[in-house]
Amino acid sequence: MKVFVSWFIIQCLILGAVISPASAQNNQHNLRFLHHANAVLSDADAETIAASATSVLATDSGEHDVPCPVTINKIGPVNSFPNTDGVIDNAMEFFLVQQVSGHVKVVRAINWCEKTGAAYLGCASMPGNSLAMVRFSPDQDGILMAHEFGHNQGLDHRLGEFNLMDKSIGPTRVGINHQECDAFKGDAGGEGHAESPVAGAVAEPETDTMTLIKTHYFHGFPVAEGKNIPKEDAAMIIELLHDEGEKQWWPNALAALGLMNSEQSFQAITDFMEQATSDDFKDPLVFRALATAPIALGYYVNVSQDQQALNYMVNAATPERMTKNTEFRNMLAIDNTDTSALAGSFVAGLSLAVTEGDGALDALQNIRLEVQPDQFPIFDQLDQSKIEYERVKELGLEAYRSRNDDN
Ligand SMILES: [Zn+2]
Repeated sequence: MKVFVSWFIIQCLILGAVISPASAQNNQHNLRFLHHANAVLSDADAETIAASATSVLATDSGEHDVPCPVTINKIGPVNSFPNTDGVIDNAMEFFLVQQVSGHVKVVRAINWCEKTGAAYLGCASMPGNSLAMVRFSPDQDGILMAHEFGHNQGLDHRLGEFNLMDKSIGPTRVGINHQECDAFKGDAGGEGHAESPVAGAVAEPETDTMTLIKTHYFHGFPVAEGKNIPKEDAAMIIELLHDEGEKQWWPNALAALGLMNSEQSFQAITDFMEQATSDDFKDPLVFRALATAPIALGYYVNVSQDQQALNYMVNAATPERMTKNTEFRNMLAIDNTDTSALAGSFVAGLSLAVTEGDGALDALQNIRLEVQPDQFPIFDQLDQSKIEYERVKELGLEAYRSRNDDN
């Protein structure tokens, strides 16, 4: 999914923020790549991603694809930016990342793209001149970049197993059509061209559990399918969470555990977080999973109405609260930035944790009273999470997650 230019961003633009436009001449897009201070992207990495995205567009991949003579150039050195904690948890953090001068911003994890959700790979304004992405697989980072850049160029999703603009990413999903090629050629901000979804391209509820988990989704793990996972599959998913060789799938596995509402879900998700070592926090793939776990717990509270799980989340919603609760001692032994990032993700997770008694909403309000005025980013996180909570409560989890573009 992508973020439409909203009233919120317009407000910010009125306040004087300027986003530098991408330049497009002779089908060349000259883009600046950046990374969050805690995310990894070398100059060589950025060149590889740009070359790979160019190849995805320019290569003729067969009957589902047209070759599109567009070149994506990485210009200038890759710099880092300090804005936010490197995990996009809400509209404000997305905006702050967008506001950094440059075009392609590599972050550590994405838990929000127009709505809160687990295991996003990318988020782009549509149309726009800036995109955020995680790095999750060296051979597919260029495909991810090309997809999100397509949103920047005004493209919507076009479902189909060979399509670049499908919602799932894969080495063979690189096809674009003539209209999409025109958009890729054009200046950023071109008209979007939406097509009807291809029948049968949406995952069926009976998709087997491992296929569902071992698919990368540009814009988050699918909620309806996750809720349909048979409870007896929990053991298999938990086994995957203990297999180091499967760590690229851990964010999806955590989201699945939360949504499927198994008796083992809460224990498995919290064990995953509490048993993390400081090396785990330094591994970008594992960190992404750790930042997904609070969102998975939010899903779990929503589907289970489990008060114990809600309390756990509330106790982890600020670094100060974490220090008072011994189960979080491993998380406090790590870098302060990581602890804050994780607490921020718990705040985002609370927006999904809608219960009869609105305990999460009360907590978001109460925590605001504890926060010192100099901890300004936390105020924003709490306020943003309250906004999302109201939407989840009004629409219900599935409708919230499927609204707008997530058809
Ligand atoms: Zn997309």
